[in-house]
Amino acid sequence: MEKIMQGRMDRGFQKYQDEYEKKALEVLRSGWYILGKEDEAFEEEFAKYVGTNYSVGLASGLDALWLAFRVLGIGEGDEVIVQGNTYIASVMGITINGATPVFVEPDKYYQIDADAIEEKITDKTKAILVVHLYGQAANMTKITEICKKYNLRLVEDCAQSHGACHDGKMTGSFGDFGCFSFYPSKNMGAFGDAGAITTNDPELARLMKIYRNYGSEKRYHNMVVGANSRLDELQAGLLRVKLAHMDEITKEREQLALKYADGIDNPMVIKPEVAAGSTSVWHQYVLRVPEYRDDFKQYLEENGIMTIIHYPIPPHLSEAYKRLELKEGSLPITEKYANEVISLPIYAGMTDEEQSRVIECINNYRKGTK
Ligand SMILES: *Cc1c(COP(=O)(O)O)cnc(C)c1O
Repeated sequence: MEKIMQGRMDRGFQKYQDEYEKKALEVLRSGWYILGKEDEAFEEEFAKYVGTNYSVGLASGLDALWLAFRVLGIGEGDEVIVQGNTYIASVMGITINGATPVFVEPDKYYQIDADAIEEKITDKTKAILVVHLYGQAANMTKITEICKKYNLRLVEDCAQSHGACHDGKMTGSFGDFGCFSFYPSKNMGAFGDAGAITTNDPELARLMKIYRNYGSEKRYHNMVVGANSRLDELQAGLLRVKLAHMDEITKEREQLALKYADGIDNPMVIKPEVAAGSTSVWHQYVLRVPEYRDDFKQYLEENGIMTIIHYPIPPHLSEAYKRLELKEGSLPITEKYANEVISLPIYAGMTDEEQSRVIECINNYRKGTK
């Protein structure tokens, strides 16, 4: 039997293959390859989609994060609050500028526990970085309140949450900056590296455009030490094609998640829940298997079903952040989740048959045992 992969980017391509191929040729033949018409059109369309005044195209999600903190002037001596259970890029976005991450535990929806934020605020705290993990919007009502009360900047890591909403407002439109990745495996994946920020503030948008292009607004007049983080025309054009289909793409993932929720019935596993007021775009469908996670993973693999752990080592325990001196046990919920989570196959173009095979296999795991 054919293996079921955890993700299938080829299927996502095939869905709109003709449109992608037509656009790729158009850009290749245009004679203009970086920051041009496609980028400008993409920025306008993407800002409209998210519901912000501006968007700025960048080269990656990590660039969106670190440039956001750079533009906000948050660095050495400053603290930024972030959840413990995130992809390490969120944390690097903070530390590249010299700021210190202060970790908060997640809630049962795997989002930052909004009730645990205030106790971590010190006079060094400058910002909260909210990660809408696995595609679900965090509790932005509470978090925006806290930011107002303590006069903190708000940055959103939307690398996994294209289209997810809280109280009807899209992630990426709540804070000073929304930071997006279009890495190929994301819900809104490009065909190479790409990223963007969204913002409502014209000055922040202007500064981001300066920083992404070596710190220059006018050619060869460099105002600040910036980066080379420009979006290329090929990716911008292909992203415009995908953006036009985002509502369908999201709906398809919602249906896949619904089928898992309806079909999976095994007392060994805990299914994901969505908080009241929030939606999920199901970047990942993450189960928890408290007792036998690694055995469960191996069992699925033996049955031709591939899974991934997002993420086996939380950033505070990674070798890269040894210098923070955070010991095992310092974030017990984060660490518990790292040992229990497992992400099932989910991708655009996943067939009903493939999904039924995954569900049946899960339901047969340790059947008859306690
Ligand atoms: C993918 C991802 C990033 C980084 O995006 P890149 O485009 O790979 O740099 C940042 N944060 C989260 C939560 C991600 O999933």
